[in-house]
Amino acid sequence: MFCGPFTESLLKKAQDKGLISINIVDIRDFTQDKHKTADDTPYGGGPGMVLKPEPVFRAIRSLSPSKSTRIILTTPAGKRLDQTMAAKLAEEKHLVVLCGHYEGIDERIREQFVTDEISIGDYVLTGGELPAMIIAECVCRLIPGVVKEEESLQRESFNNGLLDFPCYTRPEEFEGQRVPKDLLSGNHALIDRFRRKQMLKRTLFDRPEMLASADLTGEDRVILREILGE
Ligand code: SAM
Repeated sequence: MFCGPFTESLLKKAQDKGLISINIVDIRDFTQDKHKTADDTPYGGGPGMVLKPEPVFRAIRSLSPSKSTRIILTTPAGKRLDQTMAAKLAEEKHLVVLCGHYEGIDERIREQFVTDEISIGDYVLTGGELPAMIIAECVCRLIPGVVKEEESLQRESFNNGLLDFPCYTRPEEFEGQRVPKDLLSGNHALIDRFRRKQMLKRTLFDRPEMLASADLTGEDRVILREILGE
């Protein structure tokens, strides 16, 4: 499952440059029976299977985690992943991301090793693989050097608590829709104001709760009043 996202594009380039290293560990390699059994039925009954503690304990220990290694469990019950969390994780040297499957993992794994529990949203997936890939992607792109143009990171949605502005490219007119004239003006002050206004407008309409904690300037407040008046 991990091959595509980890062997293409940004994450591939970052690994090739030695900026990050990603090690995929198969829990079944740490089983000791001939069927490579990694799961069993839940105590107390009920449907589904639970990941067994023995192979997961061995798999995690094989990574020699230090006291400072963050061991992340992917779980719908975890703290919701966001850009602030990703930026904090990007400062860490070593992250272990544990993918649950079936009904989840034996609770003793969580008690013994897990330092963080992360959810990628309020919905339930079959396994933790996709969440782990999402965590890896959004964390790794914040490691210095991984994204070539650092400016594009600073401008992105959620930085400064606002959504990004809309983008346009050639042609100037397409099927009757024109590129906004401020963007064609060549006047950088006008372009900056247009983009800032679009950021504020999008955030106000699509994610108004973000504005409460956004780092707004006096000019931003003027623009917001202007938007509300339109
Ligand atoms: N019984 C669990 C519950 O209701 O909370 C759901 C288990 S789910 C079918 C199997 C695994 O997928 C989980 O152990 C977790 O690793 C992963 N998973 C599913 N949804 C997730 C989400 N929204 N965020 C992070 N991990 C998720």
